[in-house]
Amino acid sequence: MRVELQGVTKRFLSGGMSQRALDGVTFDCEFPHVLALIGPSGGGKSTLLRILAGLIRPDQGRIRLDGKEIPSNEQDLRAYRSSLGVVFQGYNLFPHMTALGNVMFPLTEVHGMVSAGARRRALDVMERLGIAGHAGKHPSQLSGGQQQRVAIARALAPDPRFLLFDEPTSALDPEMTAEVLSLIGGLRESATPMLLVTHQMGFARRIADQVAFLAGGCLIESGPAEGFFTAPGTPEAARFLEKVLSY
Ligand code: ADP
Ligand code: MG
Repeated sequence: MRVELQGVTKRFLSGGMSQRALDGVTFDCEFPHVLALIGPSGGGKSTLLRILAGLIRPDQGRIRLDGKEIPSNEQDLRAYRSSLGVVFQGYNLFPHMTALGNVMFPLTEVHGMVSAGARRRALDVMERLGIAGHAGKHPSQLSGGQQQRVAIARALAPDPRFLLFDEPTSALDPEMTAEVLSLIGGLRESATPMLLVTHQMGFARRIADQVAFLAGGCLIESGPAEGFFTAPGTPEAARFLEKVLSY
């Protein structure tokens, strides 16, 4: 997967003031499996992920995935969005549907699959992710880790060309975090490239090919993961790593 950003800027109005969440981010990166997006809170990671997912538009700048610009007309944008899988910190499952119903939902409602085919596909993916046994349960009957695994199954079921994770374990306790990280680690070798926003530095180091470090809305540093973690090239990244790794 190749991700190219050129002067991407996004401002938000808050309290009458315009604040730059992203300030001219330029970046060109190619990776086989995983790009990790890391940096301090408020740095612009979620904003960038949402722009890449086609959920919000930048005020300025261009974005290309594998050489293709994100479309700007609504119809093409809808198709673009449905070609991706996105997983957020909160699992956002429909509480009134079973786990299986949640995984089937985008297949029937967005991708127009008939119910029997969607059911088969959903159960296949749930089997692969070790949650088929929970298919008939509602979200309230599942642990946080299990709910997040259902959310990942839902994102994966339509066979997206790119998977985007925004702090997928931030709402989970350590044991459930391990459960979800091991699942995401297992996806690495699948054909689907991933963007991962995370504060789990050990995991990012293990799983990422490339790293982009964002702070204050600016891309401070990017490059191969191993180099970044062993010898960051900027004092900002070095300070950040020292801080997060010191406890
Ligand atoms: P991160 O994910 O790295 O913590 P975000 O992309 O969420 O950072 O936020 C970047 C900056 O933009 C922050 O200062 C945040 O307060 C601001 N921001 C993000 N989304 C909104 C929004 N919808 N409205 C107003 N400000 C926002
Ligand atoms: Mg965020």
